Amino acid sequence: MATGIWVLGDQLWIGQAALSSCEAEKSQTPVILIESRHSAQKRPYHSQKLVLVWSGMRHFAEELRSAGWQVTYEITDNFEPALLKWIQQNGIGELRVMVPNDRPFMQLIQNLQLDCSLNLIPNNHFLWSKAEFQDWANSRKRLLMEDFYREGRKRFNILMDGNKPIGDKWNFDKQNRRPPKGKLTTPTPLWFEPDEITRSVIEEIKTQNLASYGKIEPFCWGVTRSDALAVVEHFLTQCLPTFGPYQDAMVTGEETLWHSLISPYLNLGLLTPMEVIAAAQKAYLEKNLELNSVEGFIRQVLGWREYMHGIYHYQDEDYRDLNWFKHSEPLPDFYWHSSRTDMNCLHQVLKQVEKTGYAHHIQRLMVLSNFALIVGVSPQEIEAWFHATFVDAYDWVMQTNVIGMGQFADGGILASKPYASSANYINKMSDYCKNCTYDFKRRTGDKACPFNFFYWDFLSRHQEQLRSQGRMNLVLGNLQRMSAEELAAIQALATQWREENKS
Ligand SMILES: Cc1cc2nc3c(=O)[nH]c(=O)nc-3n(C[C@H](O)[C@H](O)[C@H](O)COP(=O)(O)OP(=O)(O)OC[C@H]3O[C@@H](n4cnc5c(N)ncnc54)[C@H](O)[C@@H]3O)c2cc1C
Ligand code: SF4
Repeated sequence: MATGIWVLGDQLWIGQAALSSCEAEKSQTPVILIESRHSAQKRPYHSQKLVLVWSGMRHFAEELRSAGWQVTYEITDNFEPALLKWIQQNGIGELRVMVPNDRPFMQLIQNLQLDCSLNLIPNNHFLWSKAEFQDWANSRKRLLMEDFYREGRKRFNILMDGNKPIGDKWNFDKQNRRPPKGKLTTPTPLWFEPDEITRSVIEEIKTQNLASYGKIEPFCWGVTRSDALAVVEHFLTQCLPTFGPYQDAMVTGEETLWHSLISPYLNLGLLTPMEVIAAAQKAYLEKNLELNSVEGFIRQVLGWREYMHGIYHYQDEDYRDLNWFKHSEPLPDFYWHSSRTDMNCLHQVLKQVEKTGYAHHIQRLMVLSNFALIVGVSPQEIEAWFHATFVDAYDWVMQTNVIGMGQFADGGILASKPYASSANYINKMSDYCKNCTYDFKRRTGDKACPFNFFYWDFLSRHQEQLRSQGRMNLVLGNLQRMSAEELAAIQALATQWREENKS
């Protein structure tokens, strides 16, 4: 009986563990990739996410064929019938699959009724295995990302000078929060023209009415490993030298600034985290780049990305249902339609997400997620929205970033305080407020900015719970000093806004 390999849609690299385990017998090893139309309709997805994943899979199937593997590519409704047919046709006795990153997919695989044995091969998509993260986490009282990141720097010998960090500091974040003042000369991102395969995926999605959110064209993402490597090279030369200072800035019409745009490729497996980290370290050593930029970037991939994945698997499955603030407001309808809000910051970022399926970290955290948090939207609703609208969204990265970091629904397992802020932050870090109908300075009265009245309403609603978070004492002190009349006016505005924005 033969051994066959099922390659999942986010496992698109030749070194993934299931393929590696059969490399020596590749010409006799059947491999299958399956596009399931039913999976794509179970929840809404950005049209460009469907194009990215399916075109990426079709290109990867070609790559495997050229490398000498026997590849079957199925486009079907459901996984199980396609697998059963292929197993029978190829006389497969053992099906190998690399353990999926996402829990729901793992459950789907385990529930399949197959007439062969199933061999789940440990996943090598991340630098830290689940067991290694667990060992680290079990030895700590608090799961601080900064501690984890330092451990990663030592473990993988990145930006180290013996036992000490290069530059004598682990973190240069303070230098990386420059507001976008004056005219910025930003790099042009590397985008791609769709090739024939990508164009046919776009046509299928259009003709089969599979699109549910966002613009499908222009589609400019890369879909192959060589595209992804070109994006890394472009980032290293054009963006990394100045990645640091404006990492948190937001500018109208500047969708990508100095950000790398590599998350869609890393999450599909078209890039591996270590090759990206090693390339950034090499660029630092050889080109004498600024340490704050290089360290700032490496911290994202070696620190945040690995940490989020580690926490996802370390926490129980019910992490996704957590709701520390007991928030239950519905998501405002304009999250699905950018033209329906006159709040300029939200309008600009939502318009960008519709167009590209992308926003950078601070746009996600301090505009999209922050607003949902202070309004009191159900964490599960906003998580589902993020999952539907971003091209780089997967269960493992959504739960921790949205439920944990963005909504503080885990009560502080992941973040040391809620990422809630008023218009002050947005005005400081962007140019959005300059062209807004609302006044970023006002928290009551005509033209009061909703970020302001909701921020104070949020603090007031949750002050008892927030007192347990030491880092909130300063702002809670400010709340105490607010007059009862002003607080009442704020609460009235918040209530009125919620009523008016019920879909
Ligand atoms: C509410 C919210 C939702 C998010 N949703 C996603 C998502 O669906 N998919 C996703 O990959 N990332 C998500 N992130 C993390 C981060 O915002 C994106 O990885 C990043 O913006 C992608 O753009 P980039 O590749 O240009 O990143 P850069 O700013 O250039 O950073 C480099 C890389 O670091 C990694 N990274 C940095 N921060 C994180 C993080 N918090 N979690 C995981 N990886 C990180 C990413 O791989 C990213 O590509 C989310 C963050 C928040 C706050
Ligand atoms: S004034 Fe308020 S709503 Fe308008 S852009 Fe600024 S923060 Fe956003």
